[in-house]
Amino acid sequence: MTDDVLIVEGLGKSHGPVTALADVDLRLAAGQRLALLGHNGAGKTTLIKLALGLIAPSAGRITVAGARPGSRAARAATAYLPEAVAFHASLTGREQLALFARLAGEPARAAGPLLERVGLAHAADRRIRTWSKGMRQRLGIAQAMLGRPRLALLDEPASGLDPVSRHDLYALIDEMAQEGTAVLIASHALTEVEARTDRIAILSGGRLVANDTLGGLRARAAMPIRLRLVA
Ligand code: ATP
Repeated sequence: MTDDVLIVEGLGKSHGPVTALADVDLRLAAGQRLALLGHNGAGKTTLIKLALGLIAPSAGRITVAGARPGSRAARAATAYLPEAVAFHASLTGREQLALFARLAGEPARAAGPLLERVGLAHAADRRIRTWSKGMRQRLGIAQAMLGRPRLALLDEPASGLDPVSRHDLYALIDEMAQEGTAVLIASHALTEVEARTDRIAILSGGRLVANDTLGGLRARAAMPIRLRLVA
């Protein structure tokens, strides 16, 4: 038995002659926060698409909550926050979240308490088009919290946020993990995620070149990795 929510074994994906992902092994347990780091083109989005079942692997295996990605069971277990969250800008925050609550099989009234929880109660009845980026990202996290997913896939969730908004956002991500959700955070900046995740996996050219705690990475002379990633 394992409580690993995400299991990736020998996973590969090629597009014709282009290898997007090769021979990746990865596990993510309930309540664990994993940073998936890499430059543009390293394969982060490919791994997320495979976990969502949007594309099929060329090699290896991936399971989400014991199910095949894209299956009804896997979809019910997974929340996905894209880098550019698409909102209905003419809806109010409450209307948007109520809509997603219904889609997640929860009552529309779940929106109110959740908006309060992510610090958006004051803006609940204002149209999203008037909201700041930080507020929108917090709404995205609220959406991802609906239905208590077993796995949350967050693609660059803090990109473009000021330090205070980023801090608030990661505090919410911590709460998700404390409630037992396995959280995968794709990012290109080690400095952004190093203090807020339990493990750090680094993709380079589609291959996993590290998968360790921050302490473990440092012990293996991680400084060159830091320089490469933030350059
Ligand atoms: P980004 O942060 O820019 O999204 P990434 O790390 O998510 O980068 P991927 O989008 O996973 O990278 O892409 C990995 C590699 O696979 C890149 O070289 C990309 O050009 C290639 N690739 C991805 N999708 C396709 C496709 N449909 N056809 C051809 N090549 C692709």
